Amino acid sequence: MSNTKFSESCYLCNSDSSYIKTDNENRRHYLCSNESCGEYEISLSAMEHLIDNNDFKSQLLPLAKRCKGTDGLLEISIRGTAIAAKVRPRTEV
Ligand SMILES: [Zn+2]
Repeated sequence: MSNTKFSESCYLCNSDSSYIKTDNENRRHYLCSNESCGEYEISLSAMEHLIDNNDFKSQLLPLAKRCKGTDGLLEISIRGTAIAAKVRPRTEV
C-alpha cells in the first residue's frame, strides 16, 4: 500500500486538507485542517453518492471532528443504497 499524501480541499468542508489512499485505492483517508472538521475515511462510491448532498456533509463534520486525534476513525461508506457513517477503531496508524 502506498502512503503517498495528496493535497486536496476537504470533501466535507472544502478547507485545506490532505488524504492518503486506503483499501486498494477504494477509499480515501482525509485529515482536514479545519477546526470544525477532522479526520475520516470515505469510500469512492460514497463520495459519488454525496457529491451534491451538502446537508449530509455538514452533519458529518462534528463526527469527523470528534475522531481527530483519537483512536476512533469516522468511516463513511455505502450500505445497500444508503450512506452509512460510523466510528470504528483504527486498524493502522
Ligand atoms: Zn474538512
